Order: sequence, then structure tokens, then C-alpha cells
Amino acid sequence: VPVSQLSLAAAKEEIAPLRKQLTQWGKEYYEQDNPSVEDYVYDRAYQRLVELETRFPELKSADSPTQRVGGAVTTQLTKVHHDIPMLSMGDVFSVDELMDFNRRQQENGDVTVAPEYNLELKIDGLSLSLVYENGKLVQGSTRGNGTIGEDVTANVMTIKSIPHQLPEPLTLEFRGECYMPKASFVKLNQEREAAGLPVFANPRNAAAGSLRQLDPKVTAKRDLATFMYYVPEYQKLGVTTQAESLDRMRELGFSVNPNNRVVHSEEEIAAYIDEYTKQRDQLSYGIDGIVEKVNDLATENALGNTVKVPRWEIAYKFPPEEQATIVRDIVWTV
Ligand code: NAD
Repeated sequence: VPVSQLSLAAAKEEIAPLRKQLTQWGKEYYEQDNPSVEDYVYDRAYQRLVELETRFPELKSADSPTQRVGGAVTTQLTKVHHDIPMLSMGDVFSVDELMDFNRRQQENGDVTVAPEYNLELKIDGLSLSLVYENGKLVQGSTRGNGTIGEDVTANVMTIKSIPHQLPEPLTLEFRGECYMPKASFVKLNQEREAAGLPVFANPRNAAAGSLRQLDPKVTAKRDLATFMYYVPEYQKLGVTTQAESLDRMRELGFSVNPNNRVVHSEEEIAAYIDEYTKQRDQLSYGIDGIVEKVNDLATENALGNTVKVPRWEIAYKFPPEEQATIVRDIVWTV
């Protein structure tokens, strides 16, 4: 039933099991690295919840999955506090929706947003925070629930693409994505199958399961890689745009994805999406969409964040490939 035709009572009845279901799927995905449904199933249900809460604001609740980042920290790994929260990201599922998002952002009177965006690939892994003191790597952590993450310092020390020492004595946090290349994922699952062990559902879960290990020796045997893409305290790097911050990270020796592009028009955005929709299968790592970021960092700062997502970036998610027809038949109630 379209949300516009629902009564408040009917919406209330639908929302409770929907939140329960999403919370359960979130636990399996974020905490156990073992999802039981495909992402598009989760995304559809999540979208329905957003629509219900938008249409009936009186049913909003601080403990809804729409107000929370990630999952709880349930492992025995030491907890880390993120002074600057690690957030989730808003998403859109069509180019039209993306253009609407941009228009709304530009028409919001409070902050003037120039139409200059840095487009990046949305790497399908898990977020990673790296802290350096005087140029030396001192801490690696996961996002967790955004405020409390897990300490994976010993594990990140085993990842080849992460520099232990920077060429400059910076005291700074760098953020990015930890992922497992597609070929390494296939190989790992073959080995696990041969050893009678459960296989990972996808490269994202394999990366998360491999990074969130108590024993760094296990992580060291897994082929993990990184692409760094964000410096919260960008001022300390002396940069003014997102594209420059990526260049600076490259200079510092981080692995940074080479496919970002600065664009100024709807046509250029649509062309980038089209290009990577076609090319994604040829990449050696998984991507689940593209990320559009306001390129000017002072504007980013002025736009700020909601409790869950930054207002200066948005993910365009690729459509699920074969599953398009199944989606229509899914029943959300439990
Ligand atoms: P998200 O993973 O979709 O997007 C936010 C994340 O994108 C960031 O935290 C960052 O780690 C990552 N990212 C990758 N490339 C980036 C780049 N270039 N710049 C900035 N960030 C980049 O959001 P989320 O809230 O972590 O999770 C929602 C996703 O998880 C959805 O895709 C959903 O389908 C999936 N999920 C699936 C299940 C399931 O059961 N299958 C359950 C829960 C969540």
C-alpha cells in the first residue's frame, strides 16, 4: 500500500515489525559479518521505513534504525571513542533522485553551495579510521556505532597498503575503506570450503570478518587492502577541496582510489555513473555505487551533518542486477 494511503494506525502497525526486522538484519550484517538477506532487500525495507517516518513524523523514534549508525560493538576487541563521529551516508537509487538532492542542497538558503562535486567510487568494504601521531601510526579502529568503534591497531599493522610512518610529522586522523579484492575473496572462500569452514557471503563481509579478529596473525593471512578518502581535520593538511585532500593523501603514501573526478554539471555526473555502471565488473574490487561530495571543504563544514549522515555527500547505489523482479514480491512484515 502506498504510504500516502495509509492511516496513522496502519502505519504504526507496519513500523514496529519493520524496525524489528531491520534491527535483526543490521545485527547479522554489522556485528556478525553474516547477512541473511541481500543488500537490496535491506535497502528496500529501510526506504519504506524512511517513507513511513517522513509521512508520519509523530511515529519517529530515537531508537529507529534510521537514527542509528551501524551496529553495537559486541566483540571482545577494545572499544575506541570517536571524538568526531564516523557516520553513515544518505543514498539515492536513480540519477533523477540525485539531481533532486543537488537542487535541494543548492536551494537551501543557509549555505551557498557551488555546483562543484568530487565523484568517487563507493568501495564495498568497511570504514576504517587511522590515527597518526607525529607521523607514526598509533591507532586503527572500525566505525562500530559511529561513536564507539573497535580497536584493530595490531590488525591494521599487518595490512600492506597502510604506511606505519608518514613522510611528514603529522598528528592527524585519516579515514577510508578496508576491503578485500575480489580474487582474494574467491580464493579465501575456496580454502575455507576445502577446510570445511563456513564461507563468507561477499567480499565486504570477508573484509569485516578478517579485520575484526582478536588474533592479528589471522588478519595477516587475509589479503586486505585499503582506499583512504577522508581527512576530518582537513585544515591541518593545508587543503581546501576534497580532490586536493585525496592528492595529499597520495603524496603521504596512502592507497587512494585513482578514479575520482571533479565535475560541474548534471551531464558530467550522469556520464560518470554510466561509465562505472558499465566498468564495475572489470574492477578488481567491489563497488556498490558512487559517492558525490561537495568539493569545497569549507562548504562541507558549513553544511554539517544530521545525527546519521553528512549533508555534503550522498551515495548513488547501483541497481541490483538480476534481482529486479524479485524485489516487488518481498513482504516486509515478520
Ligand atoms: P553504507 O555502507 O551504504 O555507506 C556509508 C559508508 O560508505 C561509509 O561509512 C564508508 O565506509 C563507505 N564508503 C565507501 N566508499 C566511500 C567513499 N569513496 N567515500 C566515503 N565513504 C565511502 O552505509 P551503512 O550505513 O554503513 O550501511 C548501509 C549499507 O549496508 C547498505 O548498503 C545496506 O544494504 C547494507 N546493509 C545490509 C544488510 C543486510 O542484511 N544485507 C544489513 C544492514 C546494512
